[in-house]
Amino acid sequence: MAENDAAAYDPENIFAKILKGEIPCHKLYEDDDTLAFLDIMPRTEGHALVITKEPAADLFGITPEGLGKLMAVVQTLAPKIKQAVGADGVLIQQFNGAAAGQTVFHLHVHIIPRKDGFPMRP
Ligand code: 5GP
Repeated sequence: MAENDAAAYDPENIFAKILKGEIPCHKLYEDDDTLAFLDIMPRTEGHALVITKEPAADLFGITPEGLGKLMAVVQTLAPKIKQAVGADGVLIQQFNGAAAGQTVFHLHVHIIPRKDGFPMRP
């Protein structure tokens, strides 16, 4: 953990509940360290989230090794989602802190497929 900057982690956050199976999700991928599922309010078709199983509130609460595993899944999954929805590009997005737009305080990375000429929902 990057202890200097780590935000407090609430074990009852929405993604923690998804991990515990208390809230359903449309699962795309899972391994020992990560879970990927579709965003409930997709900004484009195929908008997915990859989350850590390690209890980290944001980028600064995880080990470099854990972050590497998370991003390796993003790197593998993003092209597959892009292809599945026939997108032209893929936006990888990650927020830290409410001021930066983070709304769920469990580390996650957005995979947002983009099509030429199609606007993205805010
Ligand atoms: P943030 O702004 O924190 O990076 O984004 C959190 C994302 O989580 C949002 O895009 C929001 O639509 C998504 N989200 C919030 N609650 C749920 C939920 O219960 N299920 C799923 N699948 N996505 C959620």
